[in-house]
Amino acid sequence: MEKGKVHVVVLAYHGQGHINPMIQFSKRLAAKGIHVTVATTLSNTKAIQSASSSIVFESIYDDCAEGGVAGPGGFRGFLDRFEASGTRNLTHLIRDSERPVKCLVYDANITWASSVASHMGVDRAAFFTQSCAAIASYYPMHCELSEVTPSVPAFSLPGLPEIGLPNLPSLGPDTGRYPPIIRYLLQQFDNSVNADWVLFNSFDKLEEDVVSWMSKLWPVRTIGPTLPSIYLDNRVEGDDDYGFNIHKPNTDTCMKWLDSKETGSVVYISFGSNANLNTEQTVELAAALKQSNNSFLWVVQPSEESKLPTNFHDKNSDKGLVVQWCPQLEVLAHHAVGCFISHCGWNSTMEAISLGVPMVAMPQILDQMTNAHFVEYVWQVGTMTKSDEKGVTRRDEIKRCINEIMEGERGQEIRKNAIRLKVLAKEAIDEGGSSDSYIDEIISHLMVA
Ligand code: UDP
Repeated sequence: MEKGKVHVVVLAYHGQGHINPMIQFSKRLAAKGIHVTVATTLSNTKAIQSASSSIVFESIYDDCAEGGVAGPGGFRGFLDRFEASGTRNLTHLIRDSERPVKCLVYDANITWASSVASHMGVDRAAFFTQSCAAIASYYPMHCELSEVTPSVPAFSLPGLPEIGLPNLPSLGPDTGRYPPIIRYLLQQFDNSVNADWVLFNSFDKLEEDVVSWMSKLWPVRTIGPTLPSIYLDNRVEGDDDYGFNIHKPNTDTCMKWLDSKETGSVVYISFGSNANLNTEQTVELAAALKQSNNSFLWVVQPSEESKLPTNFHDKNSDKGLVVQWCPQLEVLAHHAVGCFISHCGWNSTMEAISLGVPMVAMPQILDQMTNAHFVEYVWQVGTMTKSDEKGVTRRDEIKRCINEIMEGERGQEIRKNAIRLKVLAKEAIDEGGSSDSYIDEIISHLMVA
């Protein structure tokens, strides 16, 4: 079969951190001549601004009419409605497509996806939007909960902090050993059984040991980094942006402000799309930034603004800029940015790694803990803040971490490591690199009619 006749459906979940890597993977496939249909919720298809002309977007669930996660039943209600409508519409999409569908690439969080693919007889690729290490760390819980004997010994991650069970978002009342949100996340394992490929937005050299452990479990393929090509190999024409934003970015304001700053002088702060620091933590962070010797650019989403101290937002001060949303990649790639205070969501972590920006890791929950651990101890591209007995990271501790990166001797080491990883990230996705070769391998397989 010719490449142009291969049709892949990519099933993307809602949320900035899920959409970004899957759209980018779709663009990579499209740039290599594959016809791609992205199936997702209506709110996503409406918000996506641009993509390759060979990617078609199809809504398989009208979440706008039913209020999405804010609708009846909250997150659980949304998941149930998405499943009911999504199963039906995805089946129709695959069955009625003029171009026969060869493969379904689905977010591993969409628990019903693999059975639709299996029912329709198309190849299956489960796509994880967390790191290989984070998923590996869930494996013992999965085995315990499903009462299965582990087929391989658990991957050993000495010194890994707890995944922060008390701070997890709710997904209904607790009824057993693990909260419902954990049980929901663990379903990704069942959703990957018999997948033809298990894909990760990562690259082999970044998580070598975990990837090698995981390949005993699954046909794992690292296909990242999934940043727009302009920040990596520049081989995908016009790919300079994710094309999806949950808020309108204050691009001009941010970039003009950064242009006025010296190289490596600015601290950039963002806690991702689900940012939810408590007021005490926000006040401590605000004080640390005011007292630090560095300028700062802080993303504070509208839902978080009321937690800022009164008068913090002093429009006459040039030291700090607070915005509701920014073009994070452009910001991280700007020469003025010297470090990134981050919750260590996986996309933000991969972006900092790919752009060589050192991190102050302030993880809040789940995989962020694992990512932060890797940032400090494995890759040594940043430093992790410590919190007190109340779970709050105090202003002095935040200042200590900023200084360590921006001024200290250790900062120089960290910067060197960050540049080394940046080179490896680019090599992985560049022509013939490990991630690029995996994408080619998948395409070659799909071309065999
Ligand atoms: N992001 C952005 N502008 C902002 C803050 C975040 O474009 O002001 C993007 C960021 O580049 C990343 C995504 O939002 O791709 C956040 O994903 P991540 O996995 O880091 O965290 P999550 O939102 O899933 O917690």
